[in-house]
Amino acid sequence: MRSGFISITFVFFITLSGCSNEPPVEPADLVFSGGAVFTSDPLAPAASALAVRGDTIVYVGDSAGLTPFIGNDTQQISIGDGLLIPGLMDSHTHVFNGSFADVGVNLSLADTREKLQLALETIRETNPGNAPVYARGWQNHLFPKTGPTAAELDAIFGDRIVILGSVDGHSRWFSSRALQEGGITASTVDPQPGVSFFERDPLTNTPLGTGREKAGAELVEQFIPGDQLAYQQRFVAWLPRAAAAGLTSVFDAWAGAPSETDAYEIWRSLDQAGALTLRIFGSVREIDNATKIANRFKRFSEEFSGALVRPEAVKLAADGVPEGHTAFLLTPYIDSHNEDFGQPMISKADLTSNIETYFSYDIPVHIHAIGGGAVRMSLDAIETARASTGNDSVRATIAHMDFVHPEDIPRFSALNVTAQTSIQWAARDPSYFNIGSFVGMDKVENAYPVRSIMMSGANQSFGADWPASAYLSTYKPLELIEAAVTRRLPGTPDMPARNADQAVTVAEAIVAMTRNTAIQVGELDALGSLTEGKRADLVLLKHNLFEIPQESISTTPVLMTVVNGQVVHRQ
Ligand SMILES: [Zn+2]
Repeated sequence: MRSGFISITFVFFITLSGCSNEPPVEPADLVFSGGAVFTSDPLAPAASALAVRGDTIVYVGDSAGLTPFIGNDTQQISIGDGLLIPGLMDSHTHVFNGSFADVGVNLSLADTREKLQLALETIRETNPGNAPVYARGWQNHLFPKTGPTAAELDAIFGDRIVILGSVDGHSRWFSSRALQEGGITASTVDPQPGVSFFERDPLTNTPLGTGREKAGAELVEQFIPGDQLAYQQRFVAWLPRAAAAGLTSVFDAWAGAPSETDAYEIWRSLDQAGALTLRIFGSVREIDNATKIANRFKRFSEEFSGALVRPEAVKLAADGVPEGHTAFLLTPYIDSHNEDFGQPMISKADLTSNIETYFSYDIPVHIHAIGGGAVRMSLDAIETARASTGNDSVRATIAHMDFVHPEDIPRFSALNVTAQTSIQWAARDPSYFNIGSFVGMDKVENAYPVRSIMMSGANQSFGADWPASAYLSTYKPLELIEAAVTRRLPGTPDMPARNADQAVTVAEAIVAMTRNTAIQVGELDALGSLTEGKRADLVLLKHNLFEIPQESISTTPVLMTVVNGQVVHRQ
């Protein structure tokens, strides 16, 4: 009774003082007006003006309400024909592995030999001198079964060490100088013939230029410095590209730079120096028993958390990938002779007891699960752990989720589990036909049921899983948003959509990469929407995504990116 009385009086008092003369408003540092604002806030999705003071959004509404926030030093930005949205948040990516191989040119977008030639020439032009070149992303389907040749690289780069990884990460393309300096000759023995080997001339046994799996992997380490400083330099070089793509937060699902500890040390030093231009929610990999990992997570939280960085979840793996027949399916691989469903990476009993340990410490989990069997096993494990620990609120995410049985879809909201998807994989790209040939075309057509998951009331987030990819490797959120809306590769209006029933709206795609990712990482109070009182992470786009052709979303220029009130990109 007493507390009820106090709160009623309090509300009455606030209302009265609100009605009388308003206290003067402190001017904002930055205001936006004169155009469209999409907030991702379900209570007020649209606005036309916004003000930022310090690191905080202090006003969202119309231009009339903005007037008291404009002072002599307030920077005023016109939205014009553009669109102001919350900062874009990637729900599953790998910023070190990605930035280490990123030279500013996305080789995976080169889907013809002509485009690849241009991309490689751009790499040469933007990396002058004679230092070794390392990048990643070329598409396998552009080349014969024996892969690309050293001679083709030599024709572009001359006598220079060049090593280029394929988009899937399973092959490497070497220049002649790289093979020569690495001592790879006709007499070199393959690490594992038939599995890890060099493609060779059948007559002379001379390596042609492509190494499969582990063949030549050590040459990357030999010629491309992979120490902490090299990782930090490549990461710092990538940060402006991320800002220019509108990326303001990432969940990093597996950081090695070169080790997990190195990665957190680099993040901490950049965070403390004020040099980070995005927020990083990190993971701690499950590489030991669960109690030790829980202690490691707590230690990392104490040692490495700062203004823009903190560990968020333990990363577990329930299965592998379909390409290697290591995804754990609910129906057998159709090219198998003995009812092969694939194997989970961990037993259901162990997965369950590990999750129980993390839940008992209130530590969130982020589980890799590709096959329908792995998704179901992960849901079962979470269900048991929620019941046995009584912890219904600790965050749980199942990541990738290529294949989900329709009966499992309602379980995500019932068990308070975020569904995470690399949505740019949901196109009829060459990997669709490849994977379809061994899991079944009906299965790949019905993969990534993100709209059904959203409609079930579950929290569905999108993340690029950069640089790992079946086909399109990207860190750019607008490419994911276009793919989610079109169910096609970005910029390919003529490609048939993959299961168009599962396409989402522009608004739903933006929400998946803002609000829903904020929910996944437990930051909805501070991030994920343009709401008064939240941190000022926002992106100004040159065009209004709701009014342009869908296939132009991915190429819409990002005019301005703001993180924690700081302008980190401006075009
Ligand atoms: Zn990943």
